[in-house]
Amino acid sequence: MDTSSKSQTSQSSLIKIPPSIHELREQFFTIQKDRPIILPEAEFNDTFKFFDNMVVQRQKYEGFDFITEYWSCRLWGSKVPKPRVSPQKRQRVCTTRTPIGCPYRIRIVRKKGQVTISALKEPHNHNIEVLQNKLSSGVREILGEQVSYGYRPSEIARNLKSSRNGNTEALELTGNPQPNYKHVWNCGKEWIHQHPDPRI
Ligand SMILES: [Zn+2]
Repeated sequence: MDTSSKSQTSQSSLIKIPPSIHELREQFFTIQKDRPIILPEAEFNDTFKFFDNMVVQRQKYEGFDFITEYWSCRLWGSKVPKPRVSPQKRQRVCTTRTPIGCPYRIRIVRKKGQVTISALKEPHNHNIEVLQNKLSSGVREILGEQVSYGYRPSEIARNLKSSRNGNTEALELTGNPQPNYKHVWNCGKEWIHQHPDPRI
């Protein structure tokens, strides 16, 4: 893969991603135990939301002047979750993640405007591509906002697939899948839930 061309800022018409997001995502995937990543908090907040689909938060502690969070790889589990609905009754076809007991675990410490991310145990037991089938919170927020402007989910999904506006490239650079209109619709619902209209 040619990563040099990926370091440029994407010209996406919809998803304004920070420069070097692709490299940062890869660094985040391979943090060494004794070599933490240290970022200004503003930069962390602007970038992490685009690749938080790789990890899940498991614990959080708030101190007087710091916050410590523990996150695991999204594939940390080792048991296949029992379906709540039988396959015959299933209305939604969704790709379930295959739990493979990945041991990758990180600690994120926010203190005095700085964020330190360190790896705790072993590296991932799989490659980075398998973590690309879920939308990150940053992309979900952008899509939800578009729905709130009144665009139809099908229009937004089509816009993301266009080869002319850089949106497909932006999704790929940030390790996000190509959403269909149902995903976009769900993002719209989530956005409205998080931004209730004070007039209603
Ligand atoms: Zn993993």
